[in-house]
Amino acid sequence: MIPEGATAVRLLQKRIWREGLVSLRFEKPEGFDFIPGQFVRLGIEKDFGEGLSYEARPYSMSSKPSDPYVEFLVVAVQGGKVSETLTVLEPGQSVYLEKELWGSMLPKRIPGGRTLWCISSGTGLAPFISILSDENTWKEWPHVVLVHSVRYSEDLCYTETIEKFATESQYAGSDGRSFAYVPVVTREATQFLSTRIPALISAGSLEEAAEQKLDPTNSRILLCGNPAMVKEVRDLLKTKGFMAPRRGQPGNLIAENLW
Ligand SMILES: Cc1cc2nc3c(=O)[nH]c(=O)nc-3n(C[C@H](O)[C@H](O)[C@H](O)COP(=O)(O)OP(=O)(O)OC[C@H]3O[C@@H](n4cnc5c(N)ncnc54)[C@H](O)[C@@H]3O)c2cc1C
Repeated sequence: MIPEGATAVRLLQKRIWREGLVSLRFEKPEGFDFIPGQFVRLGIEKDFGEGLSYEARPYSMSSKPSDPYVEFLVVAVQGGKVSETLTVLEPGQSVYLEKELWGSMLPKRIPGGRTLWCISSGTGLAPFISILSDENTWKEWPHVVLVHSVRYSEDLCYTETIEKFATESQYAGSDGRSFAYVPVVTREATQFLSTRIPALISAGSLEEAAEQKLDPTNSRILLCGNPAMVKEVRDLLKTKGFMAPRRGQPGNLIAENLW
């Protein structure tokens, strides 16, 4: 059954990064507002074999709240119920957007420091595109590092947007600010770093590539991606003094698993 609070939204535009990896730009429901880093559930009504039924999954917004549309980055998970349908949508078709907002990976929960590290794998990039598109992020953290780990170079998406973070004055393109983009490609020989993120942290290569130190006083970390990567990185960073904010205690790291 389609839940109360779910609104049908029409696909306005689709950007195909590669087959099975797309950005979907939907019309924005009236009054829909969110904080960068949050996610909603997108649902479809379909016959999965036992008649028409409704299935919904969480997806992070990659657009910023002031955009006149709402955008998501979606990868097709083989055999997945919802993602495969989403990635083959065509403009004009609709899905359901459940307007309830979720998510605790919000930069304001870890104030302080000078450098914001956004560490992602796969579609874990999406919330960081939203967070870094917000000018307020750059007022709070003049130095930003964006790490995106993928299997193949064709999975490196949003590169034009990321380029703007480096050059435009509301982002890093002003005096006293800096931005480091560190793509990591693990299953193909490229000019990029090629080892998994935990190993790059252990070896010091991530800090070297970013030209920033991972230090618990000056760094704040947002981490989003596949659960194995998130766990390994979180465990490793714990030994360096990073921890999540908890029960009124300030922290310097927030992690979100994609499944
Ligand atoms: C907080 C949160 C935010 C999310 N944001 C996004 C997003 O921005 N973009 C996006 O594409 N997905 C995102 N996801 C994942 C998404 O919610 C679905 O899990 C995914 O699209 C698969 O749904 P499905 O119905 O196709 O697969 P299902 O029928 O639910 O089953 C597929 C199985 O594949 C596994 N799986 C899920 N996602 C992946 C993946 N990416 N790669 C490999 N295996 C996977 C899970 O174990 C799952 O049980 C997010 C998940 C969470 C919890």
